[in-house]
Amino acid sequence: MKLVGYQHGARQQVGVLVGDETEILPLGVALPPGAALDLTSLIEQWDVLAGKLDLEQPGRLRLSDVTLTAPIPQPRRNVICVGRNYVEHAAEFGRSGYDATGANADAGHTPDAPVVFTKAPSTVIGHGVDIEPHTAVTSALDYEAELGVIIGRGGRGISRQQAMDHVWGYTIINDVTARDLQKNHKQWFLGKSLDTFCPMGPWAVTADEIGDGPLDLLCTVNGEVRQRASTADLIFDIPTIIETISRGMTLQPGDVIATGTPKGVGLGFDPPRFLQPGDVVEISISGLGTLRNTVGAA
Ligand code: MG
Repeated sequence: MKLVGYQHGARQQVGVLVGDETEILPLGVALPPGAALDLTSLIEQWDVLAGKLDLEQPGRLRLSDVTLTAPIPQPRRNVICVGRNYVEHAAEFGRSGYDATGANADAGHTPDAPVVFTKAPSTVIGHGVDIEPHTAVTSALDYEAELGVIIGRGGRGISRQQAMDHVWGYTIINDVTARDLQKNHKQWFLGKSLDTFCPMGPWAVTADEIGDGPLDLLCTVNGEVRQRASTADLIFDIPTIIETISRGMTLQPGDVIATGTPKGVGLGFDPPRFLQPGDVVEISISGLGTLRNTVGAA
């Protein structure tokens, strides 16, 4: 099942994608009166509400008549991210000169443990919304195509073996980064958290529809392929990531974890190919659709 965030009139809502992905059935009509109307609330009560979704109800909207938002447009907490989680990307990042974490060519670029950081909830935007170029504060705007994991059942001390039972579903994330801020401030939070730096979507897809197999990821800029990879190549896989993060921190329903980006980001080129106003970034992942965002005018 695919869940879509959208704006229709003055209201932000969530609906189920139906009709060959051309229509939305609002949760407000698919669920009994008074039930959840945002995705995090729905996920919290998923065990009860999933069986109550009635997709035969009338009241469908045409996808072309609404403006998409992120499936979780206002996350309750920071988006949790894993850095340097593909071998070749870890290497290109290490070589680039933008890595201020102390990893270097002599030590090798592959981390011994997952590198975990976060992005502010205010970074999140939907499919089709412009990424602000922030030209006054950065001249090194970069893209990072990533698989996003959406947590269903929360918990602490989740083992690798149990981890996939805590995954509600998936979405696509563009972990937009100001490389100069990421480098200059050592900690990554600021360079990762400028407004509009977390395009998410185009929708969220339940885990049962995706399965546990590897997913293909493709990222283009203005139609040119920049990143092509399989999630089979993650250094730390999803169960390991969930086990690591939840060891001492309670994961909550609706938490989003961006799993890392493969090689081919702008800083990996010599010279770097950072994003400019007008550039169009498109990210596709098997079964999850295509997330497209344009860099807005300066
Ligand atoms: Mg990233």
